[in-house]
Amino acid sequence: MDLSQDAINQVVQEALAAFASAGSTVELKAARAAHLGDKAPIVLANKALGALPKEERKAAGQVIGKARGQLNQAYAARESELKAVELEQALKAERVDVTLPVAKQPVGAQHPITGLMDLMSDIFVSMGWEIAEGPELEAEWMNFDALNIGPDHPARATSDTLFVEPLSNHLLMRTHTSPVQIRTLLDRELPVYIVCPGQTYRADEFDSTHVPVFHQIEGLAVDKGISLSNLLGTLDQFAKAMFGDAISTRIRPHFFPFTEPSAEVDLRCFVCHGESVGNPERPCKTCKSEGWIEWGGCGVVNPRVLAACGIDTDVYSGFAFGMGIERTLMFRNNAADMRDMVEGDIRFSRSLKGAAR
Ligand SMILES: [Zn+2]
Repeated sequence: MDLSQDAINQVVQEALAAFASAGSTVELKAARAAHLGDKAPIVLANKALGALPKEERKAAGQVIGKARGQLNQAYAARESELKAVELEQALKAERVDVTLPVAKQPVGAQHPITGLMDLMSDIFVSMGWEIAEGPELEAEWMNFDALNIGPDHPARATSDTLFVEPLSNHLLMRTHTSPVQIRTLLDRELPVYIVCPGQTYRADEFDSTHVPVFHQIEGLAVDKGISLSNLLGTLDQFAKAMFGDAISTRIRPHFFPFTEPSAEVDLRCFVCHGESVGNPERPCKTCKSEGWIEWGGCGVVNPRVLAACGIDTDVYSGFAFGMGIERTLMFRNNAADMRDMVEGDIRFSRSLKGAAR
């Protein structure tokens, strides 16, 4: 290998030219591999020093050492030049004009079912009641037996209730929020004043007035000396908070296995106040000119339900009630079609923004 001053100068000139002509840090890296890398002429020359006779080695070593120093310096200088240029280019390319108008991001809306459920829950919380929740996948015993719904009751047919396989596990998708009442009675100390808002399931058709997955809110009070009049007072208070002070309620005898006596709750129509009854010139869509709107079910808790939860029925009694959230939304906020409530179209949620007020 030629280690003369001229040969080394030639190597240095070629390397300097390559560094200078690199137009980017990427190109410069390639030039560095070629002119300062393991197989670069200057590195090979340095390795070849060992083969020189001792008297020539010192002078040649100085020449090569000086050349390498020069190349390293030139490389570092070119690298910082190129980096500065590239940084400036990047800053220019990424510059943000903060004065430009921005594209508005669409914002979601609370679902009216959620809003209405929260509103109903808040009314009871303001009266000192508590919120109770339970699982949607429920034991058959909790959903039926504990509520005095016998083994032959039609609600227990697979055509009505969504059982979860294998059937031998006796698990189902709860058909009402009532098992939460049972869980509460088993878990908590008396007295209890709770509302259970939540999602429930039935093997129903999917049409304008039925959905297989729907929502309820149920209330339960168990205390010493609870009677029907406490129930009526509570329902009245609830109705006034939901529909205004002018609203009145009535109950009609009915049958539920878990309450005795049982009743259905009606609201005085808050649109026509009963004036549409027998008045074909002023029909009312909200109550179908009946003057009353069916709202939910209620009753005095059947002592058998309390006994199933180990409660002394000589000392304690209770009342319970339940309302469908979808149904309430339909007549309270003029939502005509239940399918709108599950299709997730934000225009529907926006149009019922006031549901929670
Ligand atoms: Zn009416």
